[in-house]
Amino acid sequence: MTLVNTFMESIGNLINNVRIQDIIDIIVVAYIFYKIFILIKETRAEQLIKGIVLFLILTLVSGWLELYTLSWILNKAMTAGAFALLVVFQPELRRALERLGRIRVLNKSLIDSRGESLGNLVKEISNAVASLSRQKIGAIMVIERQIGLNDIIESGTLIDGLVTSDLLINIFIPNTPLHDGAVIIRDDKIRAAACFLPLSDNMSVSRELGTRHRAALGVSEMSDSLTVIVSEETGTISIAEYGTISRHLDIETLEKILWELYTPEESDDAIVMLWRKMDEKFRQEKK
Ligand code: ATP
Ligand code: MG
Repeated sequence: MTLVNTFMESIGNLINNVRIQDIIDIIVVAYIFYKIFILIKETRAEQLIKGIVLFLILTLVSGWLELYTLSWILNKAMTAGAFALLVVFQPELRRALERLGRIRVLNKSLIDSRGESLGNLVKEISNAVASLSRQKIGAIMVIERQIGLNDIIESGTLIDGLVTSDLLINIFIPNTPLHDGAVIIRDDKIRAAACFLPLSDNMSVSRELGTRHRAALGVSEMSDSLTVIVSEETGTISIAEYGTISRHLDIETLEKILWELYTPEESDDAIVMLWRKMDEKFRQEKK
């Protein structure tokens, strides 16, 4: 009997001692757990960042308002959360660090002191593209910018020859050893041919586009390179840059784009540029 009495008494005490803060405390904790489960279901970095900010604010506020349970849980979660974030975002972090490591110093001498040879370079590439397009010979040429493409170069055959339209055309002649795959151009050199590019997994790409165009899109999503594509089926000239493909270009437009590529007005940081362009694109697609 006394046991039951004591029990009832302590329950009564507990109820008497419940402060309004405790009730708020419990409701807030329940709500947060509910939200966390929802968040896990539809994670995206943007939402996660909002979540982290909210989390920090809540931690501060719960401290001020003396919501003890909430404050305790939030404080504990903070340490665990920091590690969890590193683990969850490990692939993204690794990719970001890799990109950071691959930044090259642009060959300034090419841009500054050799305006004439630069004009030649643009001419050589556009002449080759014009000829390939006329003959309907399929081609992909990746022009490297600040983010190095060594891993892709290694997948092909090293050439290291000056860019000339003859050499470019020759590489893509069907049924020759080097025609299959992409050419990588660094500064005024053809670094390699028959290179394998990562395919884009972008679902919104037009169905007409096959693997050649998807490969071009793929490399444009992972670097600040500019890729020129000639279609074997139609002879159409396209370029892929920052995850976007522009099709049906005429040779004058291509020349203009190449000229702008080799004489950049501002040299923005490659990663910032890539990030900004891809983000812009992502937002447009979401609309
Ligand atoms: P086209 O308009 O020229 O037909 P497409 O976009 O329809 O182009 P496919 O017909 O599938 O593409 O072109 C196949 C060619 O694309 C291959 O022979 C090869 O040269 C090239 N290619 C395919 N995948 C890759 C890749 N991952 N990296 C480099 N080149 C590739
Ligand atoms: Mg095809």
